[in-house]
Amino acid sequence: MPIARLSDLADKTACPRLVVKVGSSLLVDRQGVRRNWLEGLVAEVAQARQRGQDVIIVSSGAIALGAARLGLAKGGRGSLADAQAAAAVGQIALSGLWADLLGAHGLTAAQLLLTLDDLEDRRRYLNATATLTRLLDAGAVPVINENDSVATQEIRFGDNDRLAARVAQAAQASGVLLLSDVDGLFDRNPAQPGARLLGEVRGVTAEIHAMASGGSSSGMGSGGMTSKLQGAEIAERAGIALAIASGLHDAPIARATQQGIGTLFLARRKDGGRKAWLGGRLRLKGVLVVDAGAARALGNGSSLLAAGITAVEGDFQRGDAVAIRGAEGQVLAHGLSEYGAHDCALLVGRKSADHADILGYAPRSAVVHRDQLVLL
Ligand code: GLU
Repeated sequence: MPIARLSDLADKTACPRLVVKVGSSLLVDRQGVRRNWLEGLVAEVAQARQRGQDVIIVSSGAIALGAARLGLAKGGRGSLADAQAAAAVGQIALSGLWADLLGAHGLTAAQLLLTLDDLEDRRRYLNATATLTRLLDAGAVPVINENDSVATQEIRFGDNDRLAARVAQAAQASGVLLLSDVDGLFDRNPAQPGARLLGEVRGVTAEIHAMASGGSSSGMGSGGMTSKLQGAEIAERAGIALAIASGLHDAPIARATQQGIGTLFLARRKDGGRKAWLGGRLRLKGVLVVDAGAARALGNGSSLLAAGITAVEGDFQRGDAVAIRGAEGQVLAHGLSEYGAHDCALLVGRKSADHADILGYAPRSAVVHRDQLVLL
């Protein structure tokens, strides 16, 4: 039974496993940690556990909290070195806090600090899945953040919205609740008169993207609506429902699930494990640009043949994940390339019958086989 309304996020049958992401501005203010609020949220997590739901927490706030303690300017986001130092100070306090508050309800907290590659690399992704599964089976509540102290610009998620969606995928969760300082997605900038909160979104289309109005409003976190929509895209392709709701109130989970205040992005389809991982990949090693005929064939479920490729970008090896782009620049699919970039470039636009001569070895049946390809 797929999740069809916000109340399903609190339903054990519709949502046996829920990821709750808590934004920085909810956890930390100028005075430090918002402990009373957090106690209320943890009580709601304990209730969810009593209902029989598994809960995974994705907690931001390390940088904001550490910056306050170290007295760093710009909330610790003035430079990468500041953010890394702030996170190191903030994270240790944050973990202790979650462990204490969960412990007061008899729950055991388990900390995981992940970097982008932990979920981009297939082997490491499966490793994270195994750890999360074991922890949940053992009754623990995983508390996850990005490992900001070691993550540099190139290798970081940078926001916990996409991290939460990827974690949900790795943990095979049914739902994600992003608690933020906004009620959800509005049809225009919520500060404008007449702005309307969207209760439900079926598919994150270009029109939906146009409604998002940029970066974090509090300036504490890094996400904003843009990264939330990217998280929603990852989730919807993986068969996971994702909701955005305000955490500015007491008992925010109940407010979203009982009063129905928030935006629910419905799951679109359920790709199998490997395809879901591939579809949610955030960094790809290269690009194969295809013509209109190949784009149509892909849409009909075919493999990608060299004859339909018009350009190859990037430096990738055989087996690496690449994006497949249409002539207008839109990303059509992600796939694992059967050839490295050099051999791909040799084959561009060439018929299969010529491949053996061009390569000097027995060619593969396609450049990207349909079993290793996921349409976006
Ligand atoms: N990982 C960051 C932190 O703990 C937060 C990232 C975000 O704002 O989404 O401070």
